Amino acid sequence: MSEQITRFDLPQSEIPHAWYNIQADLPRPLPPVLHPGTHQPIGPADLAPLFPMALIMQEVSQDRYIEIPEEVREIYKLWRPTPLMRAYRLEKALDTPAHIYYKYEGVSPSGSHKLNTAVPQAYYNKMEGVQGLSTETGAGQWGTALSQACNFFGLECIVYMVKISYQQKPYRRAIIQTFGAKVTASPSDTTNAGRSILAKDPDSTGSLGIAISEAVEVAATSGGRLKYALGSVLNHVLTHQTVIGQEALKQLEIAGEYPDVVIGCAGGGSNFAGVALPFVQKNLTEGKTTRIIAVEPAACPSLTRGTYAYDFGDTVGMTPLVKMHTLGRDFIPAPLHAGGLRYHGMASIVCELYDQGLIEAQAIPQLETFSAALQFLRAEGIVPAPEPSHAIAATIREALAAKAAGEKRLILFNLCGHGHFDMAAYDAFLSGQLVDYEYPQEQIEAALAALPQI
Ligand SMILES: *Cc1c(COP(=O)(O)O)cnc(C)c1O
Repeated sequence: MSEQITRFDLPQSEIPHAWYNIQADLPRPLPPVLHPGTHQPIGPADLAPLFPMALIMQEVSQDRYIEIPEEVREIYKLWRPTPLMRAYRLEKALDTPAHIYYKYEGVSPSGSHKLNTAVPQAYYNKMEGVQGLSTETGAGQWGTALSQACNFFGLECIVYMVKISYQQKPYRRAIIQTFGAKVTASPSDTTNAGRSILAKDPDSTGSLGIAISEAVEVAATSGGRLKYALGSVLNHVLTHQTVIGQEALKQLEIAGEYPDVVIGCAGGGSNFAGVALPFVQKNLTEGKTTRIIAVEPAACPSLTRGTYAYDFGDTVGMTPLVKMHTLGRDFIPAPLHAGGLRYHGMASIVCELYDQGLIEAQAIPQLETFSAALQFLRAEGIVPAPEPSHAIAATIREALAAKAAGEKRLILFNLCGHGHFDMAAYDAFLSGQLVDYEYPQEQIEAALAALPQI
C-alpha cells in the first residue's frame, strides 16, 4: 500500500498573483446596484464617500483577473498558501468511499479567511490617503482581521460590534483592542442610527444590519478622513477571497484529484465564493460538472427561503439597494451560535449564481451542525468555528450519500476558521442547552411586505 499523504502544501511562490473576478465569466451580468433615494443605478462617484476608488473600480470591473499588489502578497506570506488536507480519519470514521479534502483558512493570524480581504482593503485605503476605517463586526472575526490589517498599515480602526456578541464574547473584543482598534457595542448612542434604534428599543441586542448603519454613518460624516470597510457581501470582497480556491485547484492537482462537490458555509457569501468561484469558472468555461453547494443555518435561511429582491444592506436604510436573497433588513437573528452567518442578505454574486442554477444551497439546523463539528474534531483534531461546521455537516451528508450509492465521490470543503473563541457555544452544546430553531414562515412573509418598492 502506498503511503497516505494528508497534507498538500504549496511553496510561497505559488501564492496567486491575481484575484479571479467571476463577473468576466457570468452568463448574465449582475443586476445594477440602485441609489437608495432615486432608485436609479449608482455610479462610482456615489460610493466615493465610503470606499477608495481602487475598490470601487474592482466592484464593477469586468476584467477576469485583478493583479494582487506586491505589498499585499508580502503580507499574505504570513500565512499563505494555506494547507489543503485530506481528511482520511474522518473518511474512516464515516466508513465512506468518498475522498474528503478541506482547505484550512484557520491558520491565518486572525484565525479565519477574513484577513484575505482585510489586508488589500487596508492597503488601497492607505494608498489613497485615508486615515482610518470604520466597520461592523458580528461574531468578531471580521473586526479582528480588520484591526490587524489596519495595524499593518498604520490606519485608525473603529469597530461597531453587535451588542450581544460584545457581551458574550469578551475575548473577541479584547483581541480587536490589542491591535489598537476602538470597539463600541452596537446599537450605541454615538451615531444617529444607533440612537434611533435605541429610542425604539432601549434593550436592543443589535444586529449586523444595525452595526453597518452605525459604521457607514461614521465614515460618511467624517469629511473624508475615514472610510468604511465591509468584510463580506461586496463583489471586491468575494474576488479577494478567490486566493482560496485558486490554491486549492493547484493542491488538488498535486493530489491527482478533481472535486465532484465543493462546499462552503454562507453568511454573506465570501468564504463560500472564495473556495467555489475558481471551480464555477471551470464549470462555465471548461465543461466541468462539479456540484457547488452553499450551506446556511436553518435559523437564517436567506438563500433557501429569502426573497430575491432589492433590499438595503443595513437596517436603517442608508446603503445602496442591492438585488439579493433577503430575509428583510429588520431581521433580528435567533440566539444562534454561528454568529458569522446571521446576516439578512447575501452577496449579489452568490444570489445570481443560485438564481441561474449554477450553484445549489442547503439549510442545516444547529444541532446537526454541532454534532458534525464534534465528529470532525474527534477525527481530525481541529476545533472548527460554528460557521464552517455547517459546511462539515453538508460534507458528512454527501459522504454518507456516496456510501449509500457505493460511489467514490470527491468532496472539497472550506474550513474557513477555527473555533478557539467559540468554546462557550461548544460548552452549551455539550451541556444540552442548544436547540434547533426553524425560521418562522410569518417572518418571511412580514419581511416580504416590508421590502422597498422598486
Ligand atoms: C465571517 C465568517 C463567516 C461568514 O461570512 P462569509 O462572508 O459568508 O464567509 C463564516 N465563517 C467564518 C469563520 C467567518 O469569520
